[in-house]
Amino acid sequence: MRGAWIVICLTACQGQLQLRAPGPTVDDEIAADLERYVKALKSKNAAVCLDAVDYLPYFGRAAVPGLIAALGSSDPNARGWAAAALGRIPDVRAVVPLIALVDDRAPLQVFVLSDDGEERHSAYDNEAYSVGQQAQIALVAISGQRFQHKSEWEKWWAGNAATFVAPEPEPFLEPMPLPPQARWLKGLKICVDPGHGGDMHKRGYKRGPTSMSEAEVNLRVARFLRDFLQQAGVTVVMTRGSDREVDLKIRAQMAAGCDLFLSVHHNWSPRLQAQATTTWYHESQDHKPASVDLARYVQEETIRQVEPGEFPRGGGLMADTLMYNTGFAVLRHLPADVPGCLVETTYYSNLAMERKLRDIAFNRREAYGMFLGIVRYVYYGIPRAEIAEVNADVLRAQTYDGLEDRREWASAHRVLSEYVRVKIDGAVVPCQYDPATGRIEVKGPFGSGEHEAVVELINVHKNHSWPKPLKFTVR
Ligand SMILES: [Zn+2]
Repeated sequence: MRGAWIVICLTACQGQLQLRAPGPTVDDEIAADLERYVKALKSKNAAVCLDAVDYLPYFGRAAVPGLIAALGSSDPNARGWAAAALGRIPDVRAVVPLIALVDDRAPLQVFVLSDDGEERHSAYDNEAYSVGQQAQIALVAISGQRFQHKSEWEKWWAGNAATFVAPEPEPFLEPMPLPPQARWLKGLKICVDPGHGGDMHKRGYKRGPTSMSEAEVNLRVARFLRDFLQQAGVTVVMTRGSDREVDLKIRAQMAAGCDLFLSVHHNWSPRLQAQATTTWYHESQDHKPASVDLARYVQEETIRQVEPGEFPRGGGLMADTLMYNTGFAVLRHLPADVPGCLVETTYYSNLAMERKLRDIAFNRREAYGMFLGIVRYVYYGIPRAEIAEVNADVLRAQTYDGLEDRREWASAHRVLSEYVRVKIDGAVVPCQYDPATGRIEVKGPFGSGEHEAVVELINVHKNHSWPKPLKFTVR
């Protein structure tokens, strides 16, 4: 009777460490975001405009046209800070408009708050901090030449314009090497969700004591995380690429087809001293144990980067139902087969921490921590099962500990026998597991039609299998 009743469809490919075809490129709404940062140069708040000067080089040469346009602004801060930013992204297109500003004596007007946030005073009392001075600095950086007067710059340019080549921009930030273990990420597809967005116009909404926006920092950290993941060969889906509101349910749905989901947030408390990093999973530890695995590694590595030596109460792993009865919508609506968690890195309501969070190098370190968390998690292997044989009377599946391609001389089937569990069509069924072969056997009978098997496994590193159903049809 062979063949009459066996049709197996393995729709959910479990080979998470196999290479997959590259996905669509991440859609980053650079134009809108650049416009926003260039606009921030006009701010009289030193924290805001200097932050933009610092971050604009992230976009590289894509930022140059907008900055050149800002050199023609009627606002001295826009002209001066655009010049400063252009000095960090050397580009031949900026030379002539910068020379035109060398004699611009308009002072930069920026103010700072005292650390307690109560006093405002000028950041630059000295009128030497003018638009022209910033243009000079930028020209020196771009040309490698040093002249005092506009006429000298003009003369130099007249003689060199035809042959001049701008130097490559300096690395935006210090290089951070990928650990060798990052190679196990290759081929994965991960959804990164920068929390909030589209809320900049709401006064005081999710802002720190000196007005730093959580949505802003979330996006920066998420971008750095995306960059690290892409370097490791991961296909990244970003739920937003600019300051834009995206419905929480839609964000969750964007994770469909991804292997993992990570939402990036920063925390707030009315208690100004509050400080901790926490990572949240949905509902309870039993809902999707793989989410807790991911959360644990992300939590450990993130805190190691941002608050070395800290140990939050309870280990920092939290169920989102502690916050809301139904948990966080963005985790609640995740596709059933996608593990995910939400990291709240530090409290931006804490003045000292808010100051750190403004620093892009710190933002990147946060992202590096999250990245290393994902690297460590995946490095320890995701156990899985594949259907070997199925008919109306029996289902046989082969288990893998997720470490088979990095085994060296360890034994072959390192899943914990005691925790092997099989669900058929949602109900737990008795099963036999053979630790010598890694084979699972489930006795039928199975009715004719389509079925879903979920094999739950825990490997030697305590990583749980992903909740990907194995579909099969009995005829
Ligand atoms: Zn948030």
